[in-house]
Amino acid sequence: MSQHRRRDPRVLKIIRNRLHPLHGQYVDSSTIKQFGPSGLLRKFPHRVGTIAANGRRRINRLGGHAPSFSMSQPLEALVNLPLHQVKQPEFYILVVLDCVAGRLTEHDKDCLGFAQMLANRKGQAGAVLAVIFGESKDTDLTLFGIDRLLHITDDAVQGYQPELCCEYLSQIIAQFNPKHIIFPDSIFAGADLGRRIAAKLALSVATSAWKLVEDELTCRASQGLSDIKSPLTDVILLLEQAYEPTSEYRYETLLLDIPKIAMYKSSLQDDGLVEVDPSQIPLAEAGFIIAGGNGITDWPLFHRTAELLGATKGASRVAVDDGFMARDRQVGATGTWVSAQVYIAVGISGAIQHLQGISRCEKVIAINIDDSCDMIKRADLSVIGDSQAILAELNQLCLQTKKVVDDVA
Ligand SMILES: Cc1cc2nc3c(=O)[nH]c(=O)nc-3n(C[C@H](O)[C@H](O)[C@H](O)COP(=O)(O)OP(=O)(O)OC[C@H]3O[C@@H](n4cnc5c(N)ncnc54)[C@H](O)[C@@H]3O)c2cc1C
Repeated sequence: MSQHRRRDPRVLKIIRNRLHPLHGQYVDSSTIKQFGPSGLLRKFPHRVGTIAANGRRRINRLGGHAPSFSMSQPLEALVNLPLHQVKQPEFYILVVLDCVAGRLTEHDKDCLGFAQMLANRKGQAGAVLAVIFGESKDTDLTLFGIDRLLHITDDAVQGYQPELCCEYLSQIIAQFNPKHIIFPDSIFAGADLGRRIAAKLALSVATSAWKLVEDELTCRASQGLSDIKSPLTDVILLLEQAYEPTSEYRYETLLLDIPKIAMYKSSLQDDGLVEVDPSQIPLAEAGFIIAGGNGITDWPLFHRTAELLGATKGASRVAVDDGFMARDRQVGATGTWVSAQVYIAVGISGAIQHLQGISRCEKVIAINIDDSCDMIKRADLSVIGDSQAILAELNQLCLQTKKVVDDVA
């Protein structure tokens, strides 16, 4: 097993939550206070917290000094989280998940966290009923706040079939009469489906919601320039990072029978996915990005690897300023804010302006020689070493895989 230290995003969340039952197991209290040689408490204001979707800084309660973890840490302790059960729900909160490529997104998890808060506030005992359309590849869904699950695997809902999904949702809403219906306000399915169902059933709706105080929602408006207040609505389209995902319990995730829908003829015909040139995909919409920075010396190798991986190319500002990449490829605060499912940062140090631009990325992989740089701290997976050697190895692996696939074909 590799000797490199790894960090587990789930454990990091436990560390940020001082009230979590497992908090003490992971936090070495000596890392909370950092005193300088003079005996004064030292603070690093630039490293405190991250910028959330609402544009506000989220403060890490450890003061931005989250330690890293070795694989030997007691991760099995997570399995022993207490089980949260709702035997007789007083009401339901319905959450319709995006489940991109069969996996829950971070945005989905935020929505489930929000739904659990709605189900349990003011001493109530509601249950969170989640709906997944199509394939689900997540092996353990019990950690994310799902009390009841409706998994609709009907072949007809594969691909883009919003009318059919709305038909299913109408049946589900009629059967369970949920108090609120939550969708991720995302470019995947949530934003479209949420608005469609609200219009179809004439339900009240709040979009771009990011805060709830008492019974008042705050929603982004005017393209993010202002906020508007709204009373709690039937349908809530929630922004990413508006709420913390659940981490205190395991949840029952009881699989329920899917309601039957009448024979339905969709007016839409989905012709399936169309292959596109990854370099033509706008950075903001790309799902898989490989970005290069000042740590790259062999740019032709970087381009070859990106093409073999089928990834969209991005760059740090230094790489753009030095003329290695076009200006429209710059990722970051003064470039493009990206929201890829996978973001590979090659030879990028992780300056705050760059990290802001990738704050919505799901999985970040860092390739760097410096194992203490900020990009490595942000990454879910890190490869420590010379970027040229690692890209060359990746290139070889891609070519071998391609050959095997061609041989089989
Ligand atoms: C107002 C303002 C706005 C800005 N906006 C942006 C923005 O939108 N986007 C942006 O990216 N930056 C932006 N910047 C610049 C930003 O502050 C950083 O300077 C820049 O992101 C650094 O780019 P870099 O990480 O590629 O380079 P460096 O900081 O030089 O980092 C290079 C990294 O490569 C690693 N490395 C070196 N050699 C190798 C090797 N052989 N193999 C592997 N790794 C290696 C090093 O360890 C280091 O971590 C902005 C700055 C300002 C002042």
